[in-house]
Amino acid sequence: MRIGIRTKLLTTYILASVIPVVVTLALLSAASAYFNSKQGVDDPQLSEYGAINLAVNLIYDNYEAIGNYDKFYEKTMTGLKGENNRIIIVDRDNRVLFDSEDREASISHRTYEPGNIRHYDVEFSMQNKNMIRFVMPLIVDDEFLGKMELTLNKFQFSMDIVKDLLRVVIGILVIGIILLIFLIVLFTSLVSKGVIQPLRQLSEAAESIAEGNLNAEIKYKNNDELGRFCRVFDTMRVKLKESLEKQADYENARKELVASISHDLRTPITSIKGYVEAIQDGVVNDKGKHEKYLQIIKDKTDKLDRLIDDLFQFSQLELGKLKMDLKKVNSRDLMENILEGYFFEFENLNISFSVEEPIPSVTIGADEHFVSRVFDNILQNSKRYIDTGGSVNIKSMVQNGYFLVAISDNGRGIKSEDLPNIFNRFYRGEKSRSRLYGGAGLGLAICKQIIEDHGGKIWVESIYGKGSTFYFSIPVA
Ligand code: ADP
Repeated sequence: MRIGIRTKLLTTYILASVIPVVVTLALLSAASAYFNSKQGVDDPQLSEYGAINLAVNLIYDNYEAIGNYDKFYEKTMTGLKGENNRIIIVDRDNRVLFDSEDREASISHRTYEPGNIRHYDVEFSMQNKNMIRFVMPLIVDDEFLGKMELTLNKFQFSMDIVKDLLRVVIGILVIGIILLIFLIVLFTSLVSKGVIQPLRQLSEAAESIAEGNLNAEIKYKNNDELGRFCRVFDTMRVKLKESLEKQADYENARKELVASISHDLRTPITSIKGYVEAIQDGVVNDKGKHEKYLQIIKDKTDKLDRLIDDLFQFSQLELGKLKMDLKKVNSRDLMENILEGYFFEFENLNISFSVEEPIPSVTIGADEHFVSRVFDNILQNSKRYIDTGGSVNIKSMVQNGYFLVAISDNGRGIKSEDLPNIFNRFYRGEKSRSRLYGGAGLGLAICKQIIEDHGGKIWVESIYGKGSTFYFSIPVA
């Protein structure tokens, strides 16, 4: 699966923002549940009775101090939380023992009739929904001592708790922010690693290429934009390496060629010179010997001629200076015209030469001069690499829209390591041997160039020691 940098960035940004928000919300709701359970503010029953319980407990716990207004006030009222709480306690004769809002009345025991509320009934104040009023008997040691009227705030919050709550909320928000920063730093470093690492590899590779080292492979293989860029860059490096190697090979081949051409030119020239000098010096006085020497000189000159011709043709073809003049010709006529002379030539060499019938009759676009050059180069090779008594056979057919020619010989064949190279310019298989027999290694390269210029293909099948078959095809017009 391909995960692009954009997707990665998007995912990390979403995660970096969602995770802290979720964690903060979870912590907040946990804190709120905790404070709820502590206060019971969610349940009015609980909180009402909670408030009453608190007040009644405070009163009973500190009842012995009721004679001391300030002490009793402090013990009870400061124990209550929330606003507008009021406690009034009267004795059996409705004389005020304690009124949290009226110190005077408490001390002078003014009479006060607590509200006409049935015991244990809770009255909700109309004005303030948060306030409850409640009257209950004051019973100490099973003795009815009076009544107490409690006006209490339902929400017995202490500011401490609010402060606690605030502190917790701020704490949670700080945790959320720290988490946010941490995740941003973490994800940024993760994503930037994914960007910086390949960039570093790319720049290192570029540097080593600049220094001429083309072997530094880029190892980053991720399937994102940078991964693809790295792959393209690496392909470029490999191509560059191949082309430099090719260039080096070509350079070597050229140097070798210059060396071998000078050798190939010098050898016949030296011997021609020797024979000519012998004739000039009058050493050759018998007529037969004279004729023989002249024949040798002619053969050597032919060889030189052919070599120079090959070189010239190939360089012209390679430079694109020789253009094929493709004319519509009949394949059978073409073959017959070209091959006519070879029967005699091979017969003289005691090599059997056969052309299989029927030759297909189709129209092909061909330059007869160059096609005959192809036949000639291949057949000259057959002649060279066949022993006397061998045979050359030519077959032709139409296949997949191509006129196909197969030229087989039962000569010495081509070694498998030479097979891929024999169509390369200046390539000579089994070097010393082909120098003895062959030319500059240009014959087949010329054939390849000509056939490709005709829009066809040329290839070879060969078994070393058994023989070779050269195939070439020309498209049917
Ligand atoms: P050359 O001019 O040296 O013959 P070519 O390009 O014609 O060069 O051939 C290249 C090489 O292919 C030869 O050196 C030879 O080793 C091999 N070769 C070509 N034709 C044949 C063949 N019919 N039988 C065996 N080897 C061949």
